[in-house]
Amino acid sequence: MISVQSNEVNFPMVEELMIPSEKVAHVQVGNPLDHALLVLLKTGYSAVPVLDSTYKFQGVISKTMILEETLGIEQFELDKLNDLTVDQAMNQNVPCLKKDHTMIDALHKLIDHPFICVTNDDEEFDGIITRRTILKQFSKHYHETLKRA
Ligand code: AMP
Repeated sequence: MISVQSNEVNFPMVEELMIPSEKVAHVQVGNPLDHALLVLLKTGYSAVPVLDSTYKFQGVISKTMILEETLGIEQFELDKLNDLTVDQAMNQNVPCLKKDHTMIDALHKLIDHPFICVTNDDEEFDGIITRRTILKQFSKHYHETLKRA
């Protein structure tokens, strides 16, 4: 949690705040898009991380990205869900964090993304940090500061 010691603010590290990989829903690069859509619908998430078979982080896939791939000239071509794979629709151009980054590093990146993936030096997936977690930290700190005032 955020603590203030002799007027210095100590922010938690990403490692303390992240959701660990074993609790994060993900899909693999080679999965067909219909599998990815099923995972997204069943979990209720709008986007999830994409990993390769060695657990390395590859990108993020969302319901919108999948629907865009199926959009034909006049109608949705749902056969494409079975023909195309996750790597053909995912976004690879997303920022990542390391476990030893601070909550403030995460905050900056979370302005433009609902969650940020955490990877190790070998690009292996360690987990995610979400907007909800950061907002909860700030809310807690705000109320504790108010109590002391
Ligand atoms: P939140 O800030 O909790 O609303 O989470 C933001 C986003 O992070 C969600 O919309 C999902 O895309 C992703 N997310 C959160 N928790 C998980 C999880 N356990 N597994 C996969 N993705 C998640």
